[in-house]
Amino acid sequence: CGIVGYVGHRKAFPIIIEGLKRLEYRGYDSAGIALYDGTDLNVSKTKGKVADLVQKVNNEISTSGSIGIGHTRWATHGVPNDVNAHPHYSSSGDLVIIHNGIIENYESLKKELTKRGYTFKSDTDTEVLINLIEDVKLKENVKLGKAVQVALNQVVGAYAIAVFDKNKPDEIVIARLGSPLAVGVGENEFFIASDASPFIEYTKNAIYLADEEMAIIRANKGIKIRKIKDDSLVVPYVQELQM
Ligand code: GLU
Repeated sequence: CGIVGYVGHRKAFPIIIEGLKRLEYRGYDSAGIALYDGTDLNVSKTKGKVADLVQKVNNEISTSGSIGIGHTRWATHGVPNDVNAHPHYSSSGDLVIIHNGIIENYESLKKELTKRGYTFKSDTDTEVLINLIEDVKLKENVKLGKAVQVALNQVVGAYAIAVFDKNKPDEIVIARLGSPLAVGVGENEFFIASDASPFIEYTKNAIYLADEEMAIIRANKGIKIRKIKDDSLVVPYVQELQM
């Protein structure tokens, strides 16, 4: 039920973990993280608390890297367990997603994707969405941002998502409809979170994504916001947070 992400020059791991802890009030049953260390995409996830995740991460993966996404899950589709925890990979293993919300038409999408050869490890609606994004990306030979946009236009439901592609490891793509998503704007760095509490100590400048908006975020190239439906560009409105 919470999302945290970071892209910039600091170590992403502690920012994401501390951020997830601040979002604990939202309630959750599982937690997970994806970090790109410059070579590999490392994912760790578990049923349980953020503290359980930290322990698992320390046994399982490298915590280095300056780009990553983290999640706390409140299960809606699929029981709370390690496999159903987010992040979820696409079939190829190239893309990862974290998602808050519900993809209502996931069953029909899953049927279509299964026919096209996709396989699913979890019982979540979220894994269907990441495979749909991958399918669009490969079929239409488009970049991640475009693939996310086209896929979301086929989706019925509510979401805040963050997506990462290990073939394009300098960017995070986010989108929202019905679930909150804020972006903290620093100097050549961005913080992504369900609310501003995870990044308030780093920056007072925040952009609140509106419903039906998506954004492509890169440390050095900034943020580009578009409307999911008609692809029109949105001028970012940066708000100063009051303490
Ligand atoms: N529907 C997704 C799931 O059950 C996301 C739930 C959430 O908002 O955390 O995994």
